[in-house]
Amino acid sequence: MLALDIDQLYYLIGRLVVFLSILILFGTLAGAFLVLYSFKTGHFFAARLMLVCISILESTIKSIFRLASVDDSIFDDVGMHLRNYINRKEFVRVPKERRFIFMPQCLRSTVCPGKLTPEGIACVDCGQCGIGEAKKFSEDKGYKFFIVPGSSFIKRIIKKYQPKAIVGVGCPMEIKEGLDLCHRYKLPALGIPLSEGGCVATKLDWEQFYDFIHD
Ligand code: SF4
Repeated sequence: MLALDIDQLYYLIGRLVVFLSILILFGTLAGAFLVLYSFKTGHFFAARLMLVCISILESTIKSIFRLASVDDSIFDDVGMHLRNYINRKEFVRVPKERRFIFMPQCLRSTVCPGKLTPEGIACVDCGQCGIGEAKKFSEDKGYKFFIVPGSSFIKRIIKKYQPKAIVGVGCPMEIKEGLDLCHRYKLPALGIPLSEGGCVATKLDWEQFYDFIHD
């Protein structure tokens, strides 16, 4: 009787494993298809469902891309736009005075005279990069504006000032980490990618930045 029960248990486990494998395979293929569809068209189909799917199956979808010789950075790019799309509605409901902007220090001129302070790099609007103008524009609208000197800075500022919404500029990896962090803090966040990355004198599409923070 016991042997029969164990046989039945193994049988059920076997079936469960097969079922889960089929489910993961199906979800991975559907997720990969949705990512490619969004990348090509700029539209999102079943956005929230897609976010759940790509969050759970990130590594398997990226593996499928690599197997098919598709650039897997497409996945991160679509993931960022998807999060922006989903977060936007909640973001615009937050008063601008409770929104924070985090700008990477690599966007500064290489001869930036700004000094490091506990509130980030203090821009003196010397006119040698676009940050000074962006800071003034943002602060006139009510935003709090920070130039980020290091990786732990954003967490510290969020804990200290408790913002209600975030705009972050950075390279795709920084944006992904930032959006994940804000998701954990339940903050609607928008990520704006640098148009030219690197460690110093990076570039940003400023028109895109002003569009993002307008509403
Ligand atoms: S505008 Fe501000 S951030 Fe840019 S180089 Fe001048 S002081 Fe530095």
